[in-house]
Amino acid sequence: METLHDLSLAGGTLDRAGLRRRDPDLLPVLLKDPLTRIVELVGGRAQVTESDRGCALFLRSPGDQDTNRLGVFLGQDGHGTAYLGVVGDAQEPAGVAPWRTLREVGVLLSDMDAGMFATLQGLANWHASHTHCPLCGATTESDQAGWIRRCAQDGTEHYPRTDPAVIMAVTDAADRLLLARSPHWPEGRLSVLAGFVEPGESLEAAVAREVLEEVGVVVEQVRYLGNQPWPFPSSLMVGFTGRAVDTTLHLDQKEIVEAMWVSRQELREMVLAGRFGISPTVSIARRMIELWYGGPIDPGAGGPDLLLPA
Ligand SMILES: [Zn+2]
Repeated sequence: METLHDLSLAGGTLDRAGLRRRDPDLLPVLLKDPLTRIVELVGGRAQVTESDRGCALFLRSPGDQDTNRLGVFLGQDGHGTAYLGVVGDAQEPAGVAPWRTLREVGVLLSDMDAGMFATLQGLANWHASHTHCPLCGATTESDQAGWIRRCAQDGTEHYPRTDPAVIMAVTDAADRLLLARSPHWPEGRLSVLAGFVEPGESLEAAVAREVLEEVGVVVEQVRYLGNQPWPFPSSLMVGFTGRAVDTTLHLDQKEIVEAMWVSRQELREMVLAGRFGISPTVSIARRMIELWYGGPIDPGAGGPDLLLPA
């Protein structure tokens, strides 16, 4: 297999200008500058405009309401324009633009906008779940333009988390793909296996361990495919292929309730019969399955997209 390029959410183009975060006046100054572009996030949704030219984040100038909100410096573009994310607590009435989640619009936005949305979503998730110091329990406060939290009691600095997770397209000698269903998913929803990387473990070792634990299959020839930020809430998905040494499945029922090897023909029949709920187009999982399949899979259309690759 080749590698996966142009994954959704993975192509952010904004210059993060990380050194500027050290300036304690950065946010106050940018919040007074009408040229600053603000992206607002409320409950995991941002305002998105739609036009002939596609979807775009709705950007506005700073307002008084932003001063007391959590603000994060997202970076600057090639013209020096600064972009700030603010986390609000109530969606404004409809009118300007509809509020959308990153899952909904990640594939529709430009690389720059999708990257900003993913960064803001990940940071907002982290701030919301790290309100207290893990060492002493005192409250923490956002600092460095939203890129650290500092303990008000002992001054310790806490950094945003990104948790690496591996996701793997495992095939057998006949080039059938291993698909499985987690107990949290509805009937019919199948995907490739995935799991978190443990301390002291390489990515390739995590692939082999997860497949062995979840379905009892030994995997070799683990090869890197691509990676994608997945801020739901804080993952970095790292995709791999792997070849199964044998095909007998022994499921860990706590993690996997159903697993199977499918040929391209079988996958096609499952999709056409509506027996297969495939991962959303924004996800690396979908792209990995389509890479193996040889082309796009569109259950809605059921047309030429589902033709078997030659
Ligand atoms: Zn503390």
